[in-house]
Amino acid sequence: AEVVHLITAGEVIDSLASVVRELVENSLDAGATRIVVSLWPGQWRVRVADNGYGMTLDDLHKAATAHSTSKICSCADLWKITSLGFRGEALHSLTTLADLEILSRPQRGDCGWRFVYGYAGEALYVEACAIAPGTIVTVSNLFGNCSGRRQGLPTLAQQMKAVQATIHQIALCHPHITWQVWQNDKEWFTLCRTASIGQLLPQIIHQVKEADLQELKLEVPPPQNSGLSTEHCALHLVVGLPDRCHRHRPDWVRVAVNGRMVKSSELEQTILSGFHRTLPRDRYPITFLHLLISPEHINWNRNPAKTEIYLNQLSYWQEQISTAIAQVLRINST
Ligand code: ADP
Ligand code: MG
Repeated sequence: AEVVHLITAGEVIDSLASVVRELVENSLDAGATRIVVSLWPGQWRVRVADNGYGMTLDDLHKAATAHSTSKICSCADLWKITSLGFRGEALHSLTTLADLEILSRPQRGDCGWRFVYGYAGEALYVEACAIAPGTIVTVSNLFGNCSGRRQGLPTLAQQMKAVQATIHQIALCHPHITWQVWQNDKEWFTLCRTASIGQLLPQIIHQVKEADLQELKLEVPPPQNSGLSTEHCALHLVVGLPDRCHRHRPDWVRVAVNGRMVKSSELEQTILSGFHRTLPRDRYPITFLHLLISPEHINWNRNPAKTEIYLNQLSYWQEQISTAIAQVLRINST
């Protein structure tokens, strides 16, 4: 109960994009390598199908009940979160905001199950079904019974842009995933799994070519005297080369920490100033920074959508980033 209390967070589901994000993060936590997202915006319907671990009959009974997560067991675990989901809230909230159906079959299970959930996350309807191992979650009629919730939202076209941006962000953090995205039963876009961000980024920002990008992967020692984990950390940096940085497009700077895109004005500022020390003012950087650091150095609970974080030892990470940027720009100029 104590854990449940600690992880209580506000409303996580406020748009089609947030539904996509929550479902896709569950697929990633389930070890999926292939994710098919289908959208029917007019029906407020989203389906995410994956080839992950799948769920047993027992898992399916629990999946949408309040604060049901298979990912955290104790308070101590909260400080070592590595999976993307951990509040056990997404599926439960969805049952109160929409119609929820899940088909799932464990990798070793000989059959799959189809569950239709009721308002409190209880199973309304259960039947055996024939599907490939993995999970297919369908959310329909989002906000249909919540008067007013659809008003004040951006137009469906704008929401679909947000969906695309969400998938792009998640894809950059997980380049080993193959994505297929459908809209109204037609293929909308695909992202092929790649060996590097340098190959993936051109699929996302079409003006950028692989040859325009430089990638740097560094192992970074943990901050000293932090009293925290002594495990090494990794810093993965992809930057547009200075002479090929674009003159006419705005900055494109993204920061991810442990598999999740985050908003960190502090780190973005560090990147921009690292660039502008070297670059002419009319060149705009393209930068993707991914920090893989021990979860003990992070506090995710800055907001319910888990996009803002506190980094302990912020100035240490800022120094490491500045050094890495200087290194990439130097490599390129020699
Ligand atoms: P959380 O992700 O925070 O644990 P969710 O409400 O998003 O909470 O999901 C509840 C549980 O349902 C998860 O902990 C997981 O066990 C299971 N689950 C949800 N989606 C999937 C999926 N695509 N594949 C396997 N298991 C899943
Ligand atoms: Mg989740």
